[in-house]
Amino acid sequence: MSEQEATTFLESVDLCFNRAASALKLPKGLARQIRTCNAICEMKFGVEIQGGYEIFTGWRATHSEHVLPAKGGIRYAPFADQQEVEALAALMTYKCSIVSVPYAGSKGALKIDPKKYSIEELEHITRRFAQEMDKRGLLGPGINVPAPDMGTGQRMMSWIADEYQKLHPSDINAQGCVTGKPVHFGGVEGRVEATGRGVQYGLQEFFRHKDDLSSANLEGTLEGKKIIIQGLGNVGYHAAKFLQEQDGALIIAILERDGAIINEDGLDIDEVSKYKSEHGKVEGFPNSKFIKSGNQVLEHPCDILIPAAMEGVITHENAPRIQAKLIAEAANGPVTFEADQILNKRGIFIIPDAYLNAGGVTVSYFEWLKNLSHVRFGRMDRRFVEAQGQKIIEAIESGIGKPLAPIAKEKLLAGPNEVDLVRSGLEDTMRVAYSEIKEQQLSNTKIEDRRTAAYALAIRNIADIYESMYL
Ligand code: GLU
Repeated sequence: MSEQEATTFLESVDLCFNRAASALKLPKGLARQIRTCNAICEMKFGVEIQGGYEIFTGWRATHSEHVLPAKGGIRYAPFADQQEVEALAALMTYKCSIVSVPYAGSKGALKIDPKKYSIEELEHITRRFAQEMDKRGLLGPGINVPAPDMGTGQRMMSWIADEYQKLHPSDINAQGCVTGKPVHFGGVEGRVEATGRGVQYGLQEFFRHKDDLSSANLEGTLEGKKIIIQGLGNVGYHAAKFLQEQDGALIIAILERDGAIINEDGLDIDEVSKYKSEHGKVEGFPNSKFIKSGNQVLEHPCDILIPAAMEGVITHENAPRIQAKLIAEAANGPVTFEADQILNKRGIFIIPDAYLNAGGVTVSYFEWLKNLSHVRFGRMDRRFVEAQGQKIIEAIESGIGKPLAPIAKEKLLAGPNEVDLVRSGLEDTMRVAYSEIKEQQLSNTKIEDRRTAAYALAIRNIADIYESMYL
């Protein structure tokens, strides 16, 4: 297949959708209604920078509106374009549906290289972008709620929230107009790590399903499994860190912008991350082999390959040479449709993006709920749970006639705090969704792989909503 024939990101998403829709019985035209991007707005706005004016181009796509608000991140990237935004917005629709988060799908982008601007300039540009979205009805706790994505983070989200609050001073729910805010500015504990944490929970769940393990030619637990991570951004870093520290997995290779580093005995994620921020590259990291053409390392033998950076990194070109047993998609759209078909034929198990990286939006949902309820999680019940624990301790101690071990007491006495509740809600979400996706596959002979099953679950859930609406 020539370069020109390769499918775009948007085509890949739509082809995956069509494959799943054709396995379902749906009223005529409904699949098309669900697949179609409802609206996309291109915004051009001038910002005064260093005594002159610069014009910026941004987009916000509202892929669906079967529930409101629509939800999805804002990306700052020099290569951003409208099609990419549409593809990402569609994925948001399916993602929210798969993890039962009551949002429609949206996504935004600004064509910008954030590294070229000072913090003050970025603040100015972001506030202007927020005004543009607001005046077009693309921002608000009940309409459209952005979040961080590639190139954006907590600070930008607080500028957006602040700008919205200034424009709508009487909106009591104004803080819920954006998620991924710092905790002191209406954010929720555990949001920064959430996508990576979700990847960990999704992988842990996969390892609980022995039949899935054997179809991936794997066995045992995550302990000692050889993992390759592509991209040490927020998602890749947290996923790798938790899998290494808590599950005992070995991170044998890390691919970054300047190349890849390999050490078959395992790389210490925190050390690599520290080295990267000090040197701006991974080349030269002690006790590792550096490979300049990093993408080659995607083809290195391993148990689990975690693409956690860009879309379209596994294509029909390299898919035949991938040697991983399992691909865990932490990024959005890392595998093209053609590559997906090749990998499926080769028996390589894929845990799809629309499920595996949904931890971010799941915890965004918790943050939004916190904003709308105006109370921190755990505030109402923490001491109550502790008091109940105390009663249980007293009952057990009087029954057995001796005091409980201090460690057991400590566990029984600890009431949940916000981060405990967020993690437990996220874990539950990832476990339930995994089983629901699997069930789709097991109950439908036309569905042959987990991505198709995930899309089918999303389509079925959205179709149910449409079928009870009158359009
Ligand atoms: N940008 C993240 C994603 O692609 C998070 C979206 C959100 O929290 O709304 O899933």
